[in-house]
Amino acid sequence: EKGKPLMLNPRTNKGMAFTLKERQILGIHGLLPSKIETQDTQAMRFQKNLKKMSDPLYIYLMGIQERNERLFYRVLMEDIEALMPIVYTPTVGLACTQYGHIFRRPKGLFISIKDQGHVRSILDNWPETTAVVVTDGERILGLGDLGVYGMGIPVGKLCLYTACAGIRPESCLPVCIDVGTDNEKLLRDPFYMGLYQRRDRSQRYDDLIDEFMEAVVDKYGQDTLIQFEDFGNHNAFRFLKKYREKFCTFNDDIQGTASVALAGLLAARRVVGKPITEHKVLFLGAGEAALGIANLIVMAMMEAGMSQAEARKKIWMFDKYGLLVKGRAYETDSNQEAFVHPDPGEVKSFLDAVNVIKPSAIIGVAGAGRLFSHDVIRAMGSLNEHPIIFALSNPTAKAECTAEDAYSLTQGRCLFASGSPFAPVSLEDGRILTPGQGNNAYIFPGVALAVILSGVRHISDTVFLEALTDEELSQGRLYPPLSNIREVSLQMAIKVMQYVYSKGMAFRYPEPVDKEAYVRSVVWNINYDSFLPEIYDWPGVSHSPC
Ligand code: NAP
Ligand code: MN
Repeated sequence: EKGKPLMLNPRTNKGMAFTLKERQILGIHGLLPSKIETQDTQAMRFQKNLKKMSDPLYIYLMGIQERNERLFYRVLMEDIEALMPIVYTPTVGLACTQYGHIFRRPKGLFISIKDQGHVRSILDNWPETTAVVVTDGERILGLGDLGVYGMGIPVGKLCLYTACAGIRPESCLPVCIDVGTDNEKLLRDPFYMGLYQRRDRSQRYDDLIDEFMEAVVDKYGQDTLIQFEDFGNHNAFRFLKKYREKFCTFNDDIQGTASVALAGLLAARRVVGKPITEHKVLFLGAGEAALGIANLIVMAMMEAGMSQAEARKKIWMFDKYGLLVKGRAYETDSNQEAFVHPDPGEVKSFLDAVNVIKPSAIIGVAGAGRLFSHDVIRAMGSLNEHPIIFALSNPTAKAECTAEDAYSLTQGRCLFASGSPFAPVSLEDGRILTPGQGNNAYIFPGVALAVILSGVRHISDTVFLEALTDEELSQGRLYPPLSNIREVSLQMAIKVMQYVYSKGMAFRYPEPVDKEAYVRSVVWNINYDSFLPEIYDWPGVSHSPC
């Protein structure tokens, strides 16, 4: 590619940073003002503009991604703490609800049920990839069914693949599967961008996902990583079970979330002093996130010497219909079975459940808003010296409680984390407490990098447990500061690589001897490449023959 198209391609564009020689050789001289600018100045310009702007930052920021990819990642990485809440939760949630209104340039592939039988030929329109993040838009954050508007989520997740783990942007493919939507509002929205039909829940849906999975490995290779994101509950569990042994895949909502929540519980030990086996955990919500976390906690308790049955007894769940107990009127499904216990009686509300079960930790993953009431938080505060309160539902409005409530109602004694960020809280006694962000963003980029670099074929749950034995993750109170997330992700990748090679789960050879040096040498960086050809002399030839 040369000339103007090269400049219009965000992957090759450098804006005014093209050198004079490049401008001449590439046939773009004169298309730019005469200043040759450094990336430093470019980044400064965008940072300044970002500070001035209040709204709509998402559109502005993603606009940089559409024009100059390296500059976008540079700006994102330099202030990940401030900008992650825009490309990711909570702002990405808002962006998804309005996707049809703010849509500029497509990023990724849209595959609809009408394309059945032709998925492979659609993939041919996307030349290469190593990692796919796919959604069908049915359970976008805690916002419900957003159909193809859900595309913002795979796009945002993959931004973090690059920003947090240095995975090359050209290795990343966001995919949205369109089988319709059951969201009435979208079906009436003139700007909706997907099929105007109700969700196809027939065998054809399953066939389409099968066809997609097979087409991906056929086109991009056996060890292409496929991350499932924000599928509806029933499908998420089914597909994980169906594909986990046959493809290189994981479900972030089930497995990634599990890992980050368990990391928080383990880190709490430094404050609470309780080993994992002494916790009793009550979940609000009994879906993908809750069951993923619960099963990983059981694994961790078993590693600490407990039996599976004993471990399971320490975990309770409360869903839309109340506590999960044997013989209740509303049925539980097979995934929940392990956590359905004999009825302790007298539980009509979540507050009752807290008082009867007396948990050391409550974990909110219902996506249903502020259900950790003041009374619930106070009850946790009187039951525990250091209650653990995780309000993990996204975006911010769906969090089970605010950081302010959690800290002030427990006199600053609780350990609080939330899925979306909350600002530090000042208490009456003058202390300022900084909440942790319990978000799978601490996990999936690092795990993905390790999986890609080691050629793992099937991702076992132990990988998500292993990801946590990382020192980095236990810096800070519960989670390390976001500004550190890149180092956390790289360290995690190194750890996971050591693990998968030692267990014979890695298939990329030769095995790098020094994994740390290897990881650091391959991660993508934001420096512009030169377009000039390599020019050199032959050794020993003092003057060339012509
Ligand atoms: P899910 O599989 O649909 O599960 C939601 C669960 O919450 C279901 O058990 C549901 O019960 C229950 N529920 C719904 N309304 C409730 C209510 N009013 N009271 C009590 N329980 C209620 O969804 P998910 O994948 O687990 O995600 C749930 C939330 O977790 C979302 O907000 C998501 O953003 C968040 N999440 C956060 C992270 C993170 O990293 N922080 C990661 C993944 C997910 P029924 O089945 O009876 O409706
Ligand atoms: Mn998710």
